[in-house]
Amino acid sequence: MSPDGPLIPHSRPTVDRRDIRAVADVLRSGCLAQGEQVRRFEEGVASFLGRRGGVATSSGTSALHLALLALGVRPGDQVIVPSYACVALLHAIQYVGADPRLADIDPDTYNLCPRAARRRLTRKTRAVIVPHMFGMPADLDEIVSWGVPVIEDCAQTLGATYRGRQAGAWGVLTVCSFYATKVLTTGEGGMLLSDSDTLLRKARDLRDYDGRATLRVRFNYKMTEMQAALGRSQLRRLPAFLERRQGLAARYTAALRGLPVRLPAVPPDRTHIFYRYVIGVQDAANLVRRLRARGIECKPPVTGSLHRYLGQDGCPAAEAASRTAVSLPLYPSLSDGGADAVAGAVVDELDRRPLSRRARVAQGVRGPRGPEALGV
Ligand SMILES: *Cc1c(COP(=O)(O)O)cnc(C)c1O
Repeated sequence: MSPDGPLIPHSRPTVDRRDIRAVADVLRSGCLAQGEQVRRFEEGVASFLGRRGGVATSSGTSALHLALLALGVRPGDQVIVPSYACVALLHAIQYVGADPRLADIDPDTYNLCPRAARRRLTRKTRAVIVPHMFGMPADLDEIVSWGVPVIEDCAQTLGATYRGRQAGAWGVLTVCSFYATKVLTTGEGGMLLSDSDTLLRKARDLRDYDGRATLRVRFNYKMTEMQAALGRSQLRRLPAFLERRQGLAARYTAALRGLPVRLPAVPPDRTHIFYRYVIGVQDAANLVRRLRARGIECKPPVTGSLHRYLGQDGCPAAEAASRTAVSLPLYPSLSDGGADAVAGAVVDELDRRPLSRRARVAQGVRGPRGPEALGV
């Protein structure tokens, strides 16, 4: 690995001159907060997702927090979440003092398993948070049909469809994240969207404290004008971003087909925008280590299972994903040559270990390609 980090990083923001000009224009304008840019970015994202309105926030986590507050989720209430997801879900539930109820994922899609989630429903269930993991929509139809408020988490998925309709257009509320390496970026940032004027009004009231006649607990979760200008510029380029992601994913699929790896599975009723290209291998940590030694930064796509954070057992599909899932570099600024280098290295590494450790030891394989050197 070079001293400056990997040759091919796992993720990177895609920022060009237009983005830089948009931010610089705001800085020159003198209006840095609570102006037109935020309002127009909210309109832009709402219109993209086909929702009535949006409330821009400082992060995806603060959008989740406002979503739970807007629904009136309180201490003692239960919120269902998948156990293989961003830990921010747990934090938002902790902020309102509710109890997270974890459900296992579907091993084929890495998304919340509706059957497992259904078993978690009780009289105290006040919401289900449904993240669309890695760029592919979860099974929205069934989950929405229970009548429990659904918060769609589109932090990883903007522009994918499920049964012909946008992911993000199904739940009573939808949240987005525009963190540096998400599909669109504002550096840090997020948004809450809904078709309900009541919920939008509640979220907007809680987002900041300025000019209110009465006192209650409010927050300062606002997005700046610079962030919103960057977001608007990025939103204009979203179609090109998505096309580039599809192209890179197709390249990976073509190169890896036929190898002993699990490739992303896309059910026929939905599309995948490939925020992440996740492959399943026998030993994810080992492959990550070996690719890193070649200057290619891959990562487990989720840091830790949520049931593990909470010291709970169960969730075998989440456990398996933690052991086997590897996310390959994929972002619009990754070149074809970069993707080919990544795929070539994966092919190479997987070809290198056709035998199990026991078989190698039995055959007395030694030397630089022996089991110790490979760490298998
Ligand atoms: C990134 C992410 C979040 C949190 O967003 P932040 O902007 O980092 O607070 C929430 N949910 C999912 C699924 C995410 O990927």
